[in-house]
Amino acid sequence: MNKAKRRTVIAGNWKMNKTPSETTALINEMKPLVKDADCDVVLCVPFVDIAAAIEASKGSNIRIGAENVHFKESGAYTGEVSAKMLKECGVEYVVIGHSERRQYFGETDQTVNLRTLAALNGGLKAIVCVGETLEQRELGYTETLLKYQTKMALTNVTAEQLKNVIIAYEPVWAIGTGVTATAEQADEGNGFVRSAIEEVYGKDVAETVTVQYGGSMNAKNADELLSKVNVDGGLIGGASLKAEDFSIIVKAANK
Ligand code: PEP
Repeated sequence: MNKAKRRTVIAGNWKMNKTPSETTALINEMKPLVKDADCDVVLCVPFVDIAAAIEASKGSNIRIGAENVHFKESGAYTGEVSAKMLKECGVEYVVIGHSERRQYFGETDQTVNLRTLAALNGGLKAIVCVGETLEQRELGYTETLLKYQTKMALTNVTAEQLKNVIIAYEPVWAIGTGVTATAEQADEGNGFVRSAIEEVYGKDVAETVTVQYGGSMNAKNADELLSKVNVDGGLIGGASLKAEDFSIIVKAANK
């Protein structure tokens, strides 16, 4: 297993936080703190903050992502935003299938797949989230579920397109709860995701795919989590809203 074959990506997921003016202030605070990063640094922000985020991050190593994308290019889908719209705004990444969208907004493995295809066809990089609930873990379904979710999300995604896919393993019980998976659990979960990719695309391809861990990653635990061979970065919620904490995670990824 060769970690050097893949990009390490630290991505913030701001969820429903920050107004445009707060976005400008936070990115201005972050820029000098992450400028020497030896990994990719991404901030996924609410739709209304995208313009401010793109403007504030200009000339820096911070890339901007959205938190969702619709699967059609245009049409009668009130309240939705397409990949083409995001791309034209300067967005490079998009989070797809976050557990909060699966839990509160009826996102399914099928819609996650459609959104992933739309993002890729629209020239965006997809950060696709998978993860088990506590109940599923306790019933012993973690491996089966992670492999199923990963394969479903990647249905009809070509090996070429996979170069623009990041999978984020996010155990649902660890998101926003302050309960972090142990480094061993994170490594194991990420390993299940990588095996699923290997089963479809082969070992050589699987070794090149960035698999992040997400779930209460913070300035204190990032070092240990990111040291694991299968953990190629993090998707960070709460700690990405604090410049200092986020930059400590970015520095942990540099090691
Ligand atoms: C997330 O929103 O993807 C996440 C992992 O949140 P938190 O870091 O707050 O658990």
